[in-house]
Amino acid sequence: MASTLLTNTLTSQQKTQLNKLEKRLRRHVGQAIAQYNMIEDGDKIMVCLSGGKDSYALLSILLILKESAPIHFDIVAVNLDQKQPGFPEDVLPNYLASLNVDYKIIEEDTYAIVKEKIPEGKTTCSLCSRLRRAVLYRVAKELNATKIALGHHRDDMIETMMLNMFYGGKLKAMPAKLVSDNGEHVVIRPLAFCKESELIQYAELKQFPIIPCNLCGSQPNLQRQNIKQMLNDWHDKFPGRIESMFTAMQNVVPSHLCDNNLFDFKTITVDSGVINGGDVAFDPSDDLAVTPSTAPSYHQDNAQQLDIVEIK
Ligand code: SF4
Repeated sequence: MASTLLTNTLTSQQKTQLNKLEKRLRRHVGQAIAQYNMIEDGDKIMVCLSGGKDSYALLSILLILKESAPIHFDIVAVNLDQKQPGFPEDVLPNYLASLNVDYKIIEEDTYAIVKEKIPEGKTTCSLCSRLRRAVLYRVAKELNATKIALGHHRDDMIETMMLNMFYGGKLKAMPAKLVSDNGEHVVIRPLAFCKESELIQYAELKQFPIIPCNLCGSQPNLQRQNIKQMLNDWHDKFPGRIESMFTAMQNVVPSHLCDNNLFDFKTITVDSGVINGGDVAFDPSDDLAVTPSTAPSYHQDNAQQLDIVEIK
């Protein structure tokens, strides 16, 4: 297989690195699949492949897990060629043929639609993504796929949560598993527990034939870039902070937020008793951090709030 041939060009140190990294990614993907019951016996998983590092990694890890999984599931890789100028049409078919995996390349000129509808200089991603989703849902139906797998990872999910908080006024991230907008498919994100830094390293070691994502000429989303930079700065200053945030996303306490739809604050009376630790829940404790050594102090939390104010 071509990917095997490519990894033969690695030094023995790089091969060891790749083996360790691959094991770690397999473990993370396996955990996410189990935690959210993402894949069941008999499933046909449509893996959406964009040509970026994340979707290559997703396909690669799912193919490995398929070999050792105690259940049977099928994989079909799908790429949507959106007819962006300069899209290298032969890269994905060659790569997928070398993997001996079922695949389908869909050609739909969504690029022309986006160019026609969106004035020059405006961001095109929103319409482009909507059109892409519609095509992918249609193809999932044609292929009788039971699940649609996307390559979003842990950092995408955290960035989305911060974006929604800063700019959308919502405490909302990117779910690991959901029902598609048209109500017809289950969408899964098996890389939910994988760090972007590890996926970058994995893509380099695996020498995936990356297709650049800026062929459409769209400007990068500056708000997301700013959030990413902010999170990376936090990570440098306070290691463990990002892990803690992701753990927090899995430990939501509705009674200690302010959403009447999630928690019935109106009916609280003195007879309700202490709810979820009451006010004690605000005190810093080792439980609040991923590891005691990385527990952010109250003062650090205040500093963090100042950071947010400055960036906003
Ligand atoms: S970067 Fe280009 S291809 Fe990607 S979603 Fe935006 S407009 Fe579409």
